[in-house]
This record gives sequence, structure tokens and C-alpha cells, in this order.
Amino acid sequence: MSFNTNENDIFFGPVTSRRLGTSLGIDLLPYSDKYCSMNCVYCECGVTKTLTTISDSSKAFPTLVQIENGFRLKMKEIGNSKIESLTYAGHGEPTLHPNFLGITKLIYNLRNEFLPKSKITLLTNSTTVNEPKIRESYKFIDKVYFKLDTVNEELFRKINRTPQEIKLQEIVDGINSFDEKRFQVLFLQSKNFDNSLDKHIEELISTFKKLKPTEIQLYSVARFPAVEEVKPILKERMEAIHQKFVSELQDTEILVF
Ligand code: SF4
Repeated sequence: MSFNTNENDIFFGPVTSRRLGTSLGIDLLPYSDKYCSMNCVYCECGVTKTLTTISDSSKAFPTLVQIENGFRLKMKEIGNSKIESLTYAGHGEPTLHPNFLGITKLIYNLRNEFLPKSKITLLTNSTTVNEPKIRESYKFIDKVYFKLDTVNEELFRKINRTPQEIKLQEIVDGINSFDEKRFQVLFLQSKNFDNSLDKHIEELISTFKKLKPTEIQLYSVARFPAVEEVKPILKERMEAIHQKFVSELQDTEILVF
């Protein structure tokens, strides 16, 4: 696996994303390691060695100047290519950058200047949703997708493996306070747990009925996971879950990948 090493690598792609179309990725994390507040069993970046909820400013996060330079270089490289989404993603949780709010303002202005038809998207693991500066940063992002693989606390600990201070209910309550909500839900199976069982689907749907999301994206493991025995669910099972979501959440756009 390679991590970003200079301003040329902050922006990656464009790539054709199953869920976002033509996407130009933005990787804001320290150059040397995956940096995340989760250690998901299915993570395609491997195990989280730096598992933290802290935005540690002593780490080598890219600066605003590097980000702006990197963006301008990328614009020269891609010319007139159509970009549907400018996407905060990368090897960890983007909102852990100590100046995430400042970056969102910068990217918002650069998007307006260079790519006015593109949407700005954030893929977040939701753990920072209650931090005031992160909530403010959402004003400069068109679509925030919150990870919510389960609403069962025990399963949450087994799948997402966060530090103990992160509480699932506080995440759900924090997300609930926004008007517009989008979610990503990943289904998986392993020897000891399975978040696609009927009882867990019922729990999720019941929570989503209260949250009233605009959109939910359902998907499964597609790349090599951090924990080898983790497997994707069967296509037939995914289709059955999709149908159940569609019939129970009629005001929400349900997409399956
Ligand atoms: S939140 Fe994303 S980057 Fe972090 S461990 Fe989970 S899948 Fe990997």
C-alpha cells in the first residue's frame, strides 16, 4: 500500500467510483500511516496502527499551502476532464485533519473557481459528528455520507472497533440533528458476527425511520479486508435487504452497489 508523500499525491484520480461517478479524491492524512478513529474489520487500508480520536497537529498532515498547490497542479494535469465529485476520502478519517474546517473553505473556493459543476463529497466514519468545527465544515460540503454499519452497540464494537470513548448512540444523535442525512452501510459476514441478519436489518430500518435520510447506500466488502476471514454477503441476500429497505423507507433513495 502506498501513502501520500508530497503535494502531488494529496489529490488522487480521477477514478471511476461505483458510488460517486468520476471522482477526484482528496487524501488529507499524515504521509506515513493510516490515521483513523476506527479499525474496521473490512478496511481495505489494512489494520489501523494509529487508532485515535485526536487531531494530532504534531503529525505531518498536509498544509493549506500544499493542498492549494496540489489542487492547482492536478487541475493542469486533468485539463477539461469531467469531475462529478471532489471527494474527501483516503487512508483514514479525513475529519481528523487538525484544520479540516480551513481546508473545507479552501476546497469550496477552489471548486467554485475550477470545477463549478462538481459536487464536494465527504465520506466520514461519523465519529467526529459532534465536534462544533466539524459540524461547521459541513456547510462547505455538498454531500456528507455518514458510515453507519449497525445500530447495535455490541456489533459496532466488533465491526468498527473504535476507542471505547466513542459511543454509538451519541453518533446517531449527532447525525439526527441535521436536516439532510446520507448514509453508507456496509454488510459483511464473519465466523463470529454478521450485520446482515434479519434482527440487525430490523434495528437499522427502525433507526432510519426516525432519522429520515435523503439517501442510503448499501454495499458489501469489495476489496481485500483488514481481517482475512471477513467476507462479503451473497448477492441474493443484498438484493433481499435492498428490497426490504425500499419497501420500509419509501421517502429515502436506496442505492445498492
Ligand atoms: S473508517 Fe474507513 S479508513 Fe477507518 S478503519 Fe474504517 S474503513 Fe478504514
